[in-house]
Amino acid sequence: MSRIHFHETIFGPVHSRRLGISLGINLLPTHYKYCTFNCVYCECGWTEVNPLENADFVPAAAILDLLDKRLEELKKEGIYPNSLTLAGNGEPTVHPEFSAIVDGTIELKNKHFPKARISVLSNASMIWQPHIMEALKKLDNNIQKLDAGTEEMFQLINQPKIPVSLREIVDNLKHFNGKVTLQTLFVRGEINGKIIDNTSEEEVAAWLLLVKEINPKRVMLYSIERKTPLLGLEKITESDLAHIAAKVEKIGICAEFFD
Ligand code: SF4
Repeated sequence: MSRIHFHETIFGPVHSRRLGISLGINLLPTHYKYCTFNCVYCECGWTEVNPLENADFVPAAAILDLLDKRLEELKKEGIYPNSLTLAGNGEPTVHPEFSAIVDGTIELKNKHFPKARISVLSNASMIWQPHIMEALKKLDNNIQKLDAGTEEMFQLINQPKIPVSLREIVDNLKHFNGKVTLQTLFVRGEINGKIIDNTSEEEVAAWLLLVKEINPKRVMLYSIERKTPLLGLEKITESDLAHIAAKVEKIGICAEFFD
């Protein structure tokens, strides 16, 4: 199975469907995936390392030093990133110095590219920790995952590797008081004889109730783009995404979809 690992701490810039020209900041180990989820569609492959064990994190000071140098290079090359994006080989908020990295990234952004935005792509599993939530609130693009409307679909699609329920995640997401963007990947398939489908009428209705509860500033809907660890997953069509996005708009929340 093909998988993508970011072998560097600072990668790109790449052209992102959702963020424009994005300079990636990989807060995870550089040679393997480290995540609290095991999503069936993850472009990094299956989660093989137990997220409750220590990983080889690059220290915050070293990450920020590399970022400073890369931003200086980009300036010399005349490349202006739209986004400095905390992401990489797994869940960025598990880095033990996440708050310090956020503060340092804000300083470096202001020094080199004050008009750029800082984004995070997170699965919301660690936001129960007050210091993680406070750090995330400082970001321009606080993008958090919500792929399911029911606990059963959450377990099938995201397969959490730590004890966390969809209800806990939703309750925690509400604490952002709207300063959050939700990202939802829509997909159909099958795992261990069970149907995966977060696009059915019932699932979308349940998901919409959660979206309404969280009341985010917007929702990003998207479909799979690359090979997935679980084979046979179906890419959702643009018209299906548009149909679901219209339902989000109908409850008064801004929605964008990316095919
Ligand atoms: S949360 Fe993100 S990195 Fe983790 S398994 Fe899911 S898609 Fe992959």
